[in-house]
Amino acid sequence: MAGKKSTRKFKTEVSELLDLIIHSLYSNKEIFLRELISNSSDAIDKLKFKAQTNPELTGDDNEFKIEIIPDATAGTLEVRDNGIGMTFDEVVENIGTIARSGSSEFYDAIKQAKESGVLAPELIGQFGVGFYSAFMVADKITVVTRAAGSESGVKWESDGTGSYTVEETEREERGTSVILHLRAPEEDEPTYTNEWTLRETVKRHSDFVSYPVVMEVERQEPVLDDEGKPKEGQTETVVKADVLNSMKAIWARHKSEVEEEEYNDFYKHVAHDWTNPLSRLHLKLEGGTEFDALIYIPTTRPMDLFMPDRKHGIQLYSRRVFIMNDCKELVPDYLRFLKGVVDSADLNLNVSREILQEDRIVRAIRKSLTRKVLDHLAGLSEEDYATFYKEFGIVLKEGIHTDPEQRERISKLLRYPTTKSGDGNISLDQYVANMKEDQEHIYFITGDNAQSLADNPHLEKLKSLDYEIILMSEPIDEFVTDAMGEFGGKKFKSAEKGDLTLGDEDKEDAEKENSELVEFFKESLKDNVKDVRISKRLTDSAACLSGSDGDMSAMMMKMLKASGQGFGDDKRVLEINPDHPFVQAIDKLRAEGGDNAELGRYAKVLLDLACIGEGAKLENPATFAKSMAELAAKAIGS
Ligand code: ADP
Repeated sequence: MAGKKSTRKFKTEVSELLDLIIHSLYSNKEIFLRELISNSSDAIDKLKFKAQTNPELTGDDNEFKIEIIPDATAGTLEVRDNGIGMTFDEVVENIGTIARSGSSEFYDAIKQAKESGVLAPELIGQFGVGFYSAFMVADKITVVTRAAGSESGVKWESDGTGSYTVEETEREERGTSVILHLRAPEEDEPTYTNEWTLRETVKRHSDFVSYPVVMEVERQEPVLDDEGKPKEGQTETVVKADVLNSMKAIWARHKSEVEEEEYNDFYKHVAHDWTNPLSRLHLKLEGGTEFDALIYIPTTRPMDLFMPDRKHGIQLYSRRVFIMNDCKELVPDYLRFLKGVVDSADLNLNVSREILQEDRIVRAIRKSLTRKVLDHLAGLSEEDYATFYKEFGIVLKEGIHTDPEQRERISKLLRYPTTKSGDGNISLDQYVANMKEDQEHIYFITGDNAQSLADNPHLEKLKSLDYEIILMSEPIDEFVTDAMGEFGGKKFKSAEKGDLTLGDEDKEDAEKENSELVEFFKESLKDNVKDVRISKRLTDSAACLSGSDGDMSAMMMKMLKASGQGFGDDKRVLEINPDHPFVQAIDKLRAEGGDNAELGRYAKVLLDLACIGEGAKLENPATFAKSMAELAAKAIGS
């Protein structure tokens, strides 16, 4: 085939990354083989999945295998598979750029890595750069591939220093060959054409791969005579294809038979991660829906956790036969960070993605898996759970809203900082246990940041009663309290909304006593607030803004405004503290029949102070600054 050869530059980030990979992973070079074998295994998985509906894709070539072909003389090592292969465009897309890159996180990570000189291994996995790790041992890589169903092949070549060439080429069979032109090994380093090095490396990191990893090996065998008996003293060299991995499905084995390192390597294989998982759950369920599952919780968040086309990491098998990757239906969305395998003997091998959701068995698996995982999380050590919660708590919270059936279980897994928890978080059970005898509700406040929330004036009264207040700083927390309504028989109550009935009758009298002052503020601020009340939540501050029970919180309004969504009436309620000297001074001036324009300005200053108190932006900061300066001058002058 007449192939046009073109030389292309790597996207900048790729060349930078290559450099970093070579330097960061230096001490653990052998894992390049695991990465290449994993890619081949994925490529076969993909083909098998497609062939379920389109059997011509495999044709006669349906004995799937991964071959390792060392050539000591040429100094090359080839990893070859008869998987799905890649088209020209796919080669450019997958190998010429880093998968899922281009995101700002990626650039940030590169920048950080450059500054520190190392690239954290977990980042490497997240960007899907497994293939590039081969540049640790190779100074040139040639990829020759032909996609299933395609007529021609593609050849890609690069020395990893900034550019690559790509051209159409002949290739007889479907699949991919990755040919490494090996660097000369340094002292103490193994040679990756050596049979025993390769054997051990495959055994160590890829034993569980479910397709045979085959290598041709030479052996000296006795020469046989016509009767099949060895001829004395005569041997000959024979070439045999040896399978290097046991292909034992790790999840089907008994827990006690699986080594820690095997578990970890298998995780790295399924999750495309480079760090060990935080925790795992190895299940064999019998009676009812029967299935085996090996589920992992990663240590860090993947970059695509919040992207719409993110990958779910659970593979579906039936009797150890691969069915599909990224099976979304096996766990609810709020557990999308899980990685691993589910194998059910009861499943139909030809189950398609479309009918999966309706499948009775899949639904039963999902239900029992969800429960098991939530119980497992509840049983993690405090330290592990804190790590988990930092990375995935925000996703877990989605479940409160979306999975009423598990709401109670999930609610027990929530953790929050409170006005009394210091740097740590506490559970809602703990909160309820800490409640004061006379305390009826679970008090919370929402906002951007726990520290500034802790100082919010809305909390003054509650604090003076020594009540603890939960500080919620994620936008999703708004939905969490809404969906739950209560916990342990105690209602959630926003510290910034509605009436904080705290059994304080004095305020009723205060309301009456100050009715003229309240009327005055209502009139002065009628365009700015929807009501004015005597506050039951302030002790030190002059004023604050609140809402009625059904109103949106300040945080929600801010979120909606930020997202450009309009909403109806966003006016709030101004609560004033009649015991505060500023409010008293205004009242005095008003009672004495003071200047209306001046009083109006003071009312506005009071409103602005309430805004500032909750960390909001003022509509007109310049006017506020001017009024404050005048007031200060007066105060100092008097
Ligand atoms: P990852 O495997 O984590 O996605 P890699 O850099 O190892 O990242 O591979 C990038 C992409 O290149 C893969 O996602 C896959 O689409 C493609 N690829 C790599 N190796 C093969 C192979 N042997 N056969 C087919 N496609 C492959």
